[in-house]
Amino acid sequence: MKIICIGRNYTNHIEELNNEKPEEPVVFIKPDSSVLPKEQDFYIPEFSNDVQHEVEVLVKIKKVGKHIAEKFAHKYYDEVSLGIDFTARDLQQQLKEKGLPWEKAKGFDGAAVIGKWLPKTNFKNLNNLNFSLLSNDKVVQEGNTSLMLWKIDELIAYVSKYFMLKKGDVIFTGTPAGVCKVNTNDYLSGKLEDEQMFSVKIK
Ligand code: ZN
Repeated sequence: MKIICIGRNYTNHIEELNNEKPEEPVVFIKPDSSVLPKEQDFYIPEFSNDVQHEVEVLVKIKKVGKHIAEKFAHKYYDEVSLGIDFTARDLQQQLKEKGLPWEKAKGFDGAAVIGKWLPKTNFKNLNNLNFSLLSNDKVVQEGNTSLMLWKIDELIAYVSKYFMLKKGDVIFTGTPAGVCKVNTNDYLSGKLEDEQMFSVKIK
């Protein structure tokens, strides 16, 4: 499986990183080796002093598709989740400044937390989902999918122009404001509406 991530999909997060608002979605990929195994702690990698959390809504692709029209995109996923796109922000910044690819800052081992999957039919409207990330039981990121620049179905249509989507692929749909450095002994947990979706300890 592959993980397709969307960057700069919430205006308030674009502003906090002083990024330009993109004309098209920003897309990058994390390898399958970046998935943090269930129930495992996250170890801050030695090459970064500023690993940040980005909480994001996830969708899981259920069948092969390419060049998917937006109006048919809903047929390609049944499940949603919440996860963390861990980012070595210091390394990403260096790579960005040199115009180099971000992979090392985004695709390292453990950099993708994937929560439990819920049927999309549990929710009335996927374009109006509240989600949050708590660090040591304090809310640090809050978002609502209605604030996405590109909605889930638009993202599927867009990315499937470039990458064939396959069963089991996961799309990370971007993070709202509030990204912050994680520290040893932090305890992070994610909520989608009222449901706890994952928890992870930082080591
Ligand atoms: Zn992200």
